[in-house]
Amino acid sequence: TQRPRVALVTGTGSGIGEAVMRHFCEQGLQVLAVDFQVEARQAAEHAGAAFFQADLTDGEACRAAVQDAVQRFGHLDILVNNAGIQHVSPIETFAEDKWRHIIDLMLTAPFLLTQAAWPHMRAAGWGRIVNIASVHAQVASPGKAAYVSAKHGMIGLTKTAALEGGSQGITANALCPAYVKTPLVDNQIADQARMHDMQEQQVIEQIMLKNAAVKRLIDPDEVASLVGYLASDAAGAVTGASWNIDLGWTAQ
Ligand code: NAD
Repeated sequence: TQRPRVALVTGTGSGIGEAVMRHFCEQGLQVLAVDFQVEARQAAEHAGAAFFQADLTDGEACRAAVQDAVQRFGHLDILVNNAGIQHVSPIETFAEDKWRHIIDLMLTAPFLLTQAAWPHMRAAGWGRIVNIASVHAQVASPGKAAYVSAKHGMIGLTKTAALEGGSQGITANALCPAYVKTPLVDNQIADQARMHDMQEQQVIEQIMLKNAAVKRLIDPDEVASLVGYLASDAAGAVTGASWNIDLGWTAQ
């Protein structure tokens, strides 16, 4: 029988990362959950995943996380780059430290984790890299300069990894979701409601779903099941692609 696949998932403390971690655990994979919040340990252990605490803006911590997965499980087959944050400000007043923080976490960390995971995937002749980008990897919104730049960059990283991995059994794909019902979005809904003096439901309908053909928020489990497919044997011919899961936002 084949050994269980080993997956490293970042940003598992809530939202999409937590859903991906649970999905993989339910499928019988061995999972290393990586997050900088101590509280994320409990969710990981509850799902049956191992936990590694790391602030991924630190390059050494990225390498240590991959090392921990390999030492613990003996392999690393799947890398899901998910950890991310948002900061909203016009370019004119966008703080340099916020810009650097977002680029470090959402572009440099995925690069360093990919780099550290690569020799293990190459040696096994099999690897799956799944990058959680965003609809903001395809289109922009005002006030989100760092986020939009990091996510567009992540598509470039994904395509390059796909080309380099093609002859080595390693695939790389990106997912581009519109608004997913997670704590990150709940906070934005509350902020916008306060800012525009609107009901939360109005914020969802009139702001967040303005460009959506399907008028509802996305469930984290819907994203997790697409990650599950892209990380599977069945998806071996799929690489360098950006998977929109955006309620039809970019169809217009
Ligand atoms: P979330 O806030 O629910 O979870 C993000 C996780 O990342 C948290 O557990 C947090 O502790 C962790 N994290 C933050 N900074 C970290 C750091 N420095 N080191 C390690 N871990 C850190 O967010 P979410 O909505 O689930 O988003 C996950 C990913 O999906 C992000 O990359 C986000 O950009 C992307 N995304 C989200 C949406 C959405 O609508 N929620 C849409 C498109 C893309």
